[in-house]
Parts: sequence; structure tokens; C-alpha cells
Amino acid sequence: MTRALILGGTGDANRLAALCARAGIDAIYSYAGRTKIPLPHALPTRIGGFGGPEGLADFIRSERITHVMDATHPFAAEMSRNAVAACAATSTPLIALERAPWTRTADDNWIEVADEAAAVAALPDAPARVFLAIGRQHLAPFAPKPQHAYTLRFVDAPDGSLPLPNTEVIVSRGPFTLQSDRELMRSRSITWLVSRNAGGDGARAKIDAARELRIPVIMIARPALPERPRVEQAEDALAWLGHDARLGA
Ligand code: NAP
Repeated sequence: MTRALILGGTGDANRLAALCARAGIDAIYSYAGRTKIPLPHALPTRIGGFGGPEGLADFIRSERITHVMDATHPFAAEMSRNAVAACAATSTPLIALERAPWTRTADDNWIEVADEAAAVAALPDAPARVFLAIGRQHLAPFAPKPQHAYTLRFVDAPDGSLPLPNTEVIVSRGPFTLQSDRELMRSRSITWLVSRNAGGDGARAKIDAARELRIPVIMIARPALPERPRVEQAEDALAWLGHDARLGA
């Protein structure tokens, strides 16, 4: 009997959850618990960390999980590494649902960097207006460049103070459109965009808007992850479980 664990927290994971629910697959959806009000879906849900790879292995055993589907964000590297280790330790099949990264076009002005520290170094020294499109837990590396005016966009309003002195916070869950992101950047006279290479359509409007407005983009590459089987579409993850999403079988 199949009993799947979906490591979630992304739009792709929610699409996968909807397909599993429709196909009648026994599955549990796991959230880290970062977002105050996660988007609802039709599967039983658990929230919070497992306690490292050992904790996840214990969960797999105690919940009799037969398949793990890692549909976390491409930058959720710790969770993905833990999933590889826990699945190896419990001999549980693992698939990653991971969209392809964005690739630059001839009209893009990207500075591609390996991590946040390199992104900070790539920002100019003269004060600039920066759309810093990264999660609130990743702002601290930018503290050495307090001279910039940073526009930030979060799903929830931040609880405490931010490590940057000059910020405007926009609270929005999206979806974001080319029109709205173009307007956001124009109205704030944004001169630089810092983005992680998330890939997919949900977050790409800002990249398209920056291209149109000829704004340079500091593009942070994805973290390296261990080799694991990977699909890009939720339907293919379902097929891996032995179900055809088109038939709902
Ligand atoms: P991370 O650094 O890889 O994970 C840190 C720890 O959080 C993990 O070791 C695990 O704790 C717990 N965790 C992460 N995802 C979990 C899940 N789906 N279920 C249960 N525990 C989870 O991850 P992150 O970058 O903080 O991202 C956290 C969540 O936000 C993920 O679910 C991810 O899909 C989502 N998200 C992240 C980003 C991003 O830019 N990183 C963007 C959009 C959504 P234990 O070790 O205790 O198990």
C-alpha cells in the first residue's frame, strides 16, 4: 500500500497535493511552519521540522511512509539533503519535484553569483535602490551594505526589526504579474534586483520586468544538492507513484 510523504511549502507541492487528493492517494503533506497562514489543500497536514535526518527517518518508519516526494523550494537545501539521507537510511524511494532554473536571454543583464555573500559584494558601493527579492531569514548578509534603499516583499509582515536600516516592506503572497512587478519597480525607481534562481512561472514576473526596464539582476545560483531522481511536473511525480494524473487512477 502506498503512503506518500510530500515535503511541501511551494506552489508546485500544493499542485501535487491536489493531484494526490484527487487520485485518492494516501499521503501526508509537511510544512516547515514558516508561513503564518499556509495555503489550504485537501491532504492531511503536519507542521514543523522533523529533527534532522534522524528525525525524518523516525517519522518515515513510524508513519509507515512508502514514498517521499521532495517538493520543497530549490533553495530549501537542508530539508532536501535530510530527505536524501533519511530515505537512504530507511530504503525509501525518493523523488524531487523541482522546476528548471531560469536561463538568461540575450536581453537580460544578469550578474550570476554563487550565494548571498557574493550577491552583497556584487552590489555597488554608491547608494542604490534595490529590490531584494529573497526571504526574510536571508537578509542578514546584506547588513554590510546599509547605504542602499531596499524594497522587500514577504508573505507575512515581519515580526521584529530587520537587519537593514532603510527598507520598504511589501506584504503580498502573489501571484505576481509582469504588469504589477513592472509597476512595483518603476514606482520605487528600482535600479538593482537581487533574486534567487527559483525557476518556474510563479516568481518570474520580476525577472521579465527587470529585462523590460533594463535593470541589472544579481542572480543567486541554487545550492548544490546530492544526486536524486527528479521530475519537473507534478503529473510526473504522480506517475512515479504508479498513478496516471490524467485518469485519476
Ligand atoms: P531549509 O533551510 O532547507 O530547512 C531548514 C529546516 O526546516 C529543515 O532542516 C527542517 O527542519 C525544516 N523544514 C524545511 N522544510 C520543511 C518541510 N516541508 N516540512 C518539515 N520541515 C521542514 O528550508 P527553508 O529554506 O527554511 O524553507 C522552509 C520551507 O519554506 C520549505 O518548506 C520550503 O519549501 C519553503 N520555501 C522556501 C523558500 C526559500 O527561498 N528557501 C521559498 C519558498 C518556500 P528539521 O531538520 O528539524 O527537519
